[in-house]
Amino acid sequence: MSVKLSDVIRSIETVAPKNLAEDWDNVGLQVGASKQVIERILITLDVTVDVVAEAVDKKADLIIAHHPFIFNGLKTLSADYQKGQIITQLIKNDIALYVAHTNLDKAENGLNDYLAHLLGLKSIQTLDPSDPKSYFKLVVYAPAEATDKIIDVFGKNGAGSIGDYDYCTYRSSGIGTFRPLQGANPFIGEVDAITSVDEDRIEAIVPEELLKQLILQLKKNHPYEEMAYDIIPLENGKFINQNGLGKIGRLENPLKSQDFIDHVKKILNLPSLRGAGVIPETIRRVALCSGSGADMIGLAKAKKADVLITGDLKHHDGQRALENNFWVLDAGHFGTEKCVAECFKAIIKAGLKENCPEMIIAEASKDFIINY
Ligand SMILES: [Zn+2]
Repeated sequence: MSVKLSDVIRSIETVAPKNLAEDWDNVGLQVGASKQVIERILITLDVTVDVVAEAVDKKADLIIAHHPFIFNGLKTLSADYQKGQIITQLIKNDIALYVAHTNLDKAENGLNDYLAHLLGLKSIQTLDPSDPKSYFKLVVYAPAEATDKIIDVFGKNGAGSIGDYDYCTYRSSGIGTFRPLQGANPFIGEVDAITSVDEDRIEAIVPEELLKQLILQLKKNHPYEEMAYDIIPLENGKFINQNGLGKIGRLENPLKSQDFIDHVKKILNLPSLRGAGVIPETIRRVALCSGSGADMIGLAKAKKADVLITGDLKHHDGQRALENNFWVLDAGHFGTEKCVAECFKAIIKAGLKENCPEMIIAEASKDFIINY
């Protein structure tokens, strides 16, 4: 099955919009063109020489990565350097590269939710819900005979999606008036005459990142030369959205700390874990933050977690855990984020459904840190 790269991107950014990314981050399409046709995707945590070689070997036309390959300060594309070699290989082989990083970390149903579900947590909440998604109410006025078509455009472009329901719209009927001026080419009525028409007011909720595309599609399908519409900002995002850093949830059945260590090792397929601080006897509430989340120690403790699982723990993070009488487990940056490939797969599959191209998890995506 083949799709346009723009469709793959839309499936990801519906869940993880780019505006969720941290200011210092660099996400989105880094190599290639959004009109490119995609038949096979290779998914990886990092872009390395070996990952690109695997993409060439397996004839992938797109690499999706979590960590930005082009991050900042790229001053040369010369193939005398490894970054230049990688970009040269990508362009020579017509392979696009797309990145979703902190936007995927922070997105509701993104990487940290995936990790929380993997560990079997229940009643999952965001540890630091700092990024409410913006929602708008879009109101469109149309002649009654065009209402069904407008509702269809709303639904097909993601407006009116609430929980497990889509196509959620509301209509009310009234009378619209207008006067076509000189130069107009009216669908109904005549130039210089005030016309009254039976119209419907059709409204639906729409997330900010889908708004522009929705309005473009509505204008294409609306019968009037000038579509009348209102965009009304909503406060819903603050209440219904769970974007932000880290997750916290409870285990269905409390575990003794040693059993919890075994559980994490088994689920994340790790031979060992590092840890610091004070080990509680029983683990009920678990906080987590994929990658480098030691900064969350204080917040996890304040939210009454029994443990924080993260990666990249440094000496003084361990000291802070001890001083806070709190337990932190270091499952490694790679250990907490390698599941990003399965997470991307699930998001793209849910977005593209039967149009999904083939997706392969990169075997060459490996932990840079080795325990000898
Ligand atoms: Zn990371």
